[in-house]
Amino acid sequence: MSTRLNPKKAGLALLVICCIVIIAMVLLSSTRYWPFERAGTTEADPIKEVADRVSKLKQAGDTPTLEQLVDAFQPLELVDIHNHDASGARYSSMLNVWKKDYIDKVVLFGDVSEPSAIGTDSVSWSAYQKSPDQFLPFFSGFDLHDKRSLDVIRNNLEQGYFGLGEIAAASTYSPVVSKVAWKASDPMDGFLPEIYDLIATYNAPILLHIDPPSGYPVLKLEEALEAHPNTIFIFGHMNAYNSPEEIDRLLAKHPNLYADFFAGFSVYNPEGGGHPETFITIMKKYPDRFMLSTDSGYGIESEQQAIDAMYRILYLIDNPELAKKIAHDNMMALIQAQPATKTQLSSIQKLATDSGETYDYGKMTKLEAGKILADANKE
Ligand SMILES: [Zn+2]
Repeated sequence: MSTRLNPKKAGLALLVICCIVIIAMVLLSSTRYWPFERAGTTEADPIKEVADRVSKLKQAGDTPTLEQLVDAFQPLELVDIHNHDASGARYSSMLNVWKKDYIDKVVLFGDVSEPSAIGTDSVSWSAYQKSPDQFLPFFSGFDLHDKRSLDVIRNNLEQGYFGLGEIAAASTYSPVVSKVAWKASDPMDGFLPEIYDLIATYNAPILLHIDPPSGYPVLKLEEALEAHPNTIFIFGHMNAYNSPEEIDRLLAKHPNLYADFFAGFSVYNPEGGGHPETFITIMKKYPDRFMLSTDSGYGIESEQQAIDAMYRILYLIDNPELAKKIAHDNMMALIQAQPATKTQLSSIQKLATDSGETYDYGKMTKLEAGKILADANKE
């Protein structure tokens, strides 16, 4: 038997070895075991980053300042999901505050369920056109007792608005919302049932103001949640004048209900009871259903104080994974689940014909389409 290697077999063996090495390198490079720095892809893990920064803060022992909290939680890209600064175009005076306090995105609208909201809706739209990475426009300018509200809603969602809000679904005690011309008497009033069905076809959420958050209005909310299981309902400032037990009961029963947690109310408003930590257990129980907001600082010292409160809640949560969901991921999941609309796609097709650009229309989200269109408008 010859000990010389058959050249054909040796070649084949070499080829097999090369293939194994290449496959191993590809697999390794996508894992944390890859020993070399990947140029341009070295993204810091925000959760680890926050864990490190928070543990340093804790070692210091004192109550952290807002600046320290902003620095610790900055990698989470905090989203304010309930903001009225389209009213009086107040948002332009907040730009520096948001920058300094690392508010990554703002769900922006203005007046609530009254004719003047038509104007503030267009302010939130134009803010979004200028800064599509910073604002998520919602709208509230329609009379839910009028069938034509369905056309307004369809047109606005087609145009690229991401949701309806803040909508007065019931109000008895709020000195502002109880007086608005287009408020509903309860969450099933007027054309609201038809509205819930329409917005489900766009995956667009509705942010409701309901006060009191108990009794008949909540009974009707539960009727709406059950009759419209594909509609996403966000209970505005759900922690205001409400107990953790009641929030627990509603979230347990209704998977299509989300909680807007107005941090400033529980942290700084004396009527909030002064014990924000009592809500942390239910946040842990429903990690995908809570989001944070400022409500533009309604009823407290300032919007800045309401931002401070959001960061204090993230600190109280004491769990960077959960904090990331509540600060950012839960709202962005609702936004990213919205597909590009027919109106957006046909506008983009027109753009593409002019520019020769190609787009992947099949999987395009409303967020991506909105950014393409806003950027094109600026050119
Ligand atoms: Zn509000």
